[in-house]
Amino acid sequence: MKLQALSQSVASALATLKLHPRRVAAGLAVLLLGTGVTAFGVAPLAPDAAQLPVTEVVEQVQALPLAPQADTLLTHRFNLYRTEQTRSTDTADSLLSRLNINDPAAAAFLRKDAAARSHIFGRGTQTISAEANDDQQLVKLSLRWPTEDLNFFKRLVVERQGRDFVSRVETERYNRSSRLVSGPINKTLRSSFDSAKLDRALSEQMVGIFSGGLDASRSARQGDRYSVYYEVLEADGEPLRTGRILAAEVVLAGQTHHAIWYVNEAATKGENRGGAYFNLDGKSLAKGYLTPLESGVLTSGFSMRMNPVLSRMTAHKGIDYAAPTGTPVRAVADGTVEFAGRQNGYGNVIFLNHGKGHTTVYAHLNSMAVSQGQAVIQGQYLGGVGSTGWATGPHLHFEFRVDGVHQDPELMARVGTSSGLSAAAMPAFRQSAGQMRQQLRADATVQQALIQ
Ligand SMILES: [Zn+2]
Repeated sequence: MKLQALSQSVASALATLKLHPRRVAAGLAVLLLGTGVTAFGVAPLAPDAAQLPVTEVVEQVQALPLAPQADTLLTHRFNLYRTEQTRSTDTADSLLSRLNINDPAAAAFLRKDAAARSHIFGRGTQTISAEANDDQQLVKLSLRWPTEDLNFFKRLVVERQGRDFVSRVETERYNRSSRLVSGPINKTLRSSFDSAKLDRALSEQMVGIFSGGLDASRSARQGDRYSVYYEVLEADGEPLRTGRILAAEVVLAGQTHHAIWYVNEAATKGENRGGAYFNLDGKSLAKGYLTPLESGVLTSGFSMRMNPVLSRMTAHKGIDYAAPTGTPVRAVADGTVEFAGRQNGYGNVIFLNHGKGHTTVYAHLNSMAVSQGQAVIQGQYLGGVGSTGWATGPHLHFEFRVDGVHQDPELMARVGTSSGLSAAAMPAFRQSAGQMRQQLRADATVQQALIQ
């Protein structure tokens, strides 16, 4: 009789499973509950559990009617979370299927929604998270991506609202953590970074930071090495991009160079707020300004010249560097993107505001990697050289303006920034620098331990 009741229970459970295949796990739990007449009791784990006697406790458990239990489970909804990587070849269907979501309405929404289409599909690999209900229906989808701004990232959210869906793009502040990388310098600092496959943003920053006192293409000696302690910008708990270098130590050709990022709170107020790189003596490493191209031939200076497009003498308000299309153009100093877009003669052009009334202009670009309002740091990649606008061939037209007046960019390098910290600022700086060096050394210790 009992066996018959049990087989009935099993049959009804199986029927439930057939009706609701999504609830296989829950159904199994029902089966175990319904048939569970045995419970095992094991003595609490003592120092050596294997040596202890195992007591089996057999207990009669009242088998509850199954149908009410199944009904309870049916009304008890639970959501499932899953994270996947998007692929450039993804369609709404292929992506949802990898996320274990079977929801034609969601697929239809992703196909027609402009925000979802532009941020999810046809892009590189991105991390996407989904929340689904136990009917494999989409509840919420979210995806994050970095902008060039070091403070904020963007998040796309697609969310169920009744029978339909809504999407929105949010701007959110990063969480910051720090990380350390180090390694030997085999040939040159630059080639070592390349072979270590370090983030391009990191090597660009290093070159920018040390450009005043260290030749990144200089040949290394035995024992040369680098350590870089930098910020990682995290979005919803996932590292999304490389932030600023906080401290670096480079031993090149036997000489040790340090760079410590330090915000001198007392001296930096309002518009000039921000930090700078110093060596251990508190001397600024700022070269003032970098050149906009790492290398390039200066073909036209700042003066009156025959305009090649208008065929008459005009004042050339900048300088031209000839370089192949796509050559990386970099920010000459920290600043904010005042404009990034198309302007007649300039073609694709970027205006950077560096504070203190200083503006730099990068024209005829083939591509632009930044957009209006973004903060950029010295050495940051802005875009590629091109020949958009009034240009006869690929070149970078570069301008330097002070309070709106065009200045000779070749003199720009001499408009230095701060040279060093005041005696009053030194104690706080030394303390900060000491902590940074400890971070760099902690890594050296780990490296030593690994070698031994
Ligand atoms: Zn020009």
